[in-house]
Amino acid sequence: MEECPYCGEPIRGPLEKLAHMVFCPFAFPWTCFVCGKRFRSEKELMEHIRAHHPEVAEAIRKLAHAAREAEEVVGEKIVRLFGR
Ligand SMILES: [Zn+2]
Ligand SMILES: [Zn+2]
Repeated sequence: MEECPYCGEPIRGPLEKLAHMVFCPFAFPWTCFVCGKRFRSEKELMEHIRAHHPEVAEAIRKLAHAAREAEEVVGEKIVRLFGR
C-alpha cells in the first residue's frame, strides 16, 4: 500500500491520494502537489490547479462527487472548493 510522504498515512487509491495531497496537514500549506509551486491561499492554489492542471481538477471534481455521496469529511472540503 502507498503512503503519504509527509505524514505516512496509508493511501488506498489514486483519488484518495489526490485528496490527501491537497489536504494533508503535514504538507506545506497551499503548495501545488503537481508542480510544487506555492500560494498564499487555498483559493489561489485551486485557481492554479484549475488553470494549469485541468486533468487534476477534473479528477478532484469526480472525487468531490463520490465523496459527497459518501459524506466523508475530506469530501466536504473538496466539495466546498470544487463542488457545484
Ligand atoms: Zn499526509
Ligand atoms: Zn501546479
